Amino acid sequence: MNIILLGPPGAGKGTQASRLESERGMVQLSTGDMLRAAVKAGTPVGLQAKAVMEAGELVSDAIVSGIIGERLDELGADKGAIFDGYPRTAAQAQSLDEILAERGRKLDHVIELVVDEDALVTRITGRFSCGNCGANYHDSFNQPKVEGVCDVCGGTEFKRRPDDNEATVRTRMAEYRAKTAPILPIYEARGLVQRVDGMADIAVVTDAIEAILDGRG
Ligand code: ADP
Ligand code: ADP
Ligand code: ZN
Repeated sequence: MNIILLGPPGAGKGTQASRLESERGMVQLSTGDMLRAAVKAGTPVGLQAKAVMEAGELVSDAIVSGIIGERLDELGADKGAIFDGYPRTAAQAQSLDEILAERGRKLDHVIELVVDEDALVTRITGRFSCGNCGANYHDSFNQPKVEGVCDVCGGTEFKRRPDDNEATVRTRMAEYRAKTAPILPIYEARGLVQRVDGMADIAVVTDAIEAILDGRG
């Protein structure tokens, strides 16, 4: 099974993708995580992407579709993919169709996380993650069980993204509205889109997504 989680920055895509990964053995493919790793490693892709990401704008379609294709090649044919933060433009949606078809895969669901825009800035400015394993937290909504200690790996170093500030979030939301939201009708026409209330508690959102994947939604 291959699914897309679609929604604006802060909608909960990464949080839900990692929960589905641990509960269902699917694999999260986050272009944001891949690009951040490239920036950190100083690869040619990273050098090109850094300033664009810091400004909250979109990295080129060719770069992100290229890294998605490479990552899918590393994935066992029996593993389902969760696309998190990709596709973000009509051109990327088109590339994804080709990338999947070339590998004998097909898209099963496009799940739109519907959230209230006012909540997004609070979600993003409060977001932090474990410096060791990448587990995702929030200052108010999703704190580690023991303060300062990662639930998953016991790590005690946490980090915040340089682009998780209010000014950049506004640009990212505008990019979502202008370039990403318009791809929903493409998938709607194919009967693939299902909506989930992304304002519900994290576990409730996961249940709603799992109901869709199990054909109960
Ligand atoms: P995205 O990947 O869509 O940008 P994240 O999954 O990183 O979003 O979530 C953004 C922030 O909001 C994180 O700090 C996360 O812990 C928190 N969060 C995610 N889902 C919810 C939810 N349903 N309710 C409250 N906070 C949430
Ligand atoms: P969020 O879900 O919080 O918006 P991501 O981690 O998905 O953030 O993406 C962070 C940044 O990486 C984006 O603002 C953009 O610059 C870049 N990026 C990630 N995925 C894509 C993509 N599919 N196309 C273009 N740029 C991307
Ligand atoms: Zn950790």
